Amino acid sequence: MTRQVPDSCPGVLRLHAAADGPLARIRVPGGRVEPEQLVALAEAARELGDGNIELTSRGNVQLRQVRDAGELTGRLEAVGLLPSHTHERVRNIVASPLSGRIGGSADVHGLVPVLDAGLLAAPRLAELPGRVLFTLDDGRGDISGLGGDIGVHATGTDEFALILAGHDSGIRISAADAVDVMLAAAHGFLDLRGDDAGRWRLHDIEDGADRVAELLGLSRGSDRVELSAAQDIPIGWLDQDNGLVALGAGVRLGSLPARTAEFIAAVERPVFITPWRSLVLPDLDEWTAEQVVRVLAPMELIFDANSPWLQVSACAGRPGCAKSRTDVRADVTAAVESGRVLPPDPNPPAPQDIPLLDATEVTVAGRQHWSGCDRRCGRPHTPVTDIVATDTGHYQSSPKPT
Ligand code: SF4
Repeated sequence: MTRQVPDSCPGVLRLHAAADGPLARIRVPGGRVEPEQLVALAEAARELGDGNIELTSRGNVQLRQVRDAGELTGRLEAVGLLPSHTHERVRNIVASPLSGRIGGSADVHGLVPVLDAGLLAAPRLAELPGRVLFTLDDGRGDISGLGGDIGVHATGTDEFALILAGHDSGIRISAADAVDVMLAAAHGFLDLRGDDAGRWRLHDIEDGADRVAELLGLSRGSDRVELSAAQDIPIGWLDQDNGLVALGAGVRLGSLPARTAEFIAAVERPVFITPWRSLVLPDLDEWTAEQVVRVLAPMELIFDANSPWLQVSACAGRPGCAKSRTDVRADVTAAVESGRVLPPDPNPPAPQDIPLLDATEVTVAGRQHWSGCDRRCGRPHTPVTDIVATDTGHYQSSPKPT
């Protein structure tokens, strides 16, 4: 597939003109944010934006209604959140959030800064479209199913499958070679893409994965890892393999208030932003973990895996998006708070379109994504019920697997 225009993914240096004001997206490789970085983001959100830090489906963050882009740039540079002006939009790296702490076949977190440094060191890779996604899966299968472009999936403690365009290429590499091979694959994508700026993803190039694999010149076996997008979000108390505790925390519609972020930063541990718009706070002793839950649960962080908030996601909607037919987030919030988001049905009815409904009448069980128009931005890769606003001001829902 070839589009007519280059990708227009926002960054810090290239803001998106959203309907509610300029929007800045800040890349966070591996989703890892240090406490001082979280404080800087919270202060920027409050003083330069709308007061919230939005979590994205790539483990990045964005600020809305940015009032002073120059001031934001300086603040982010000061805490290491904008290490390059040329490569800022290509640093899209997601990694298994629990890797090295709970389960998994290998620890992929160590690969994140090496891959990031390799991207930054290659001038040509600044040409990668901002849509290209690098995935590092420690073998548990939580990341490889996200449909990335180039990635690795652990098949042993020191063996990785090379993932191209969301599928196992059949190429097997060691941890020591993983970053070099991914960078070579990125160059291969640019070779195939040529001057066609309308090809934003490896998926957009016919036989792109096979052709990149050929360019790499590595042998391909016949075994393939089956990848699935279906995974439970890590939520609540999670015992680490080393005796410490990680806390998985859901964030209502992925929007983290600045004040809550500052309380999280006060724990003085790194925080991982997950591609499910949630957080993982690792490496806590039991006493600290109990205090964190006691303080942050009343601040609307979600530690209960049965919370209806974990069943819902939504696009920006009004007022952030001019295309939206309604204030989607207000409608989905009302649905949650009035008990109309039901637990998953173990015996769901056969998929069928449901009649047009007023926002106050929509009652759906299980995972659901609310959208202000048919584009369905931010729709998860997992099966969801689509709830889409129509021209008449109503919603229509259609259960449909991804
Ligand atoms: S789904 Fe439609 S209304 Fe929602 S953010 Fe995307 S374009 Fe805007």
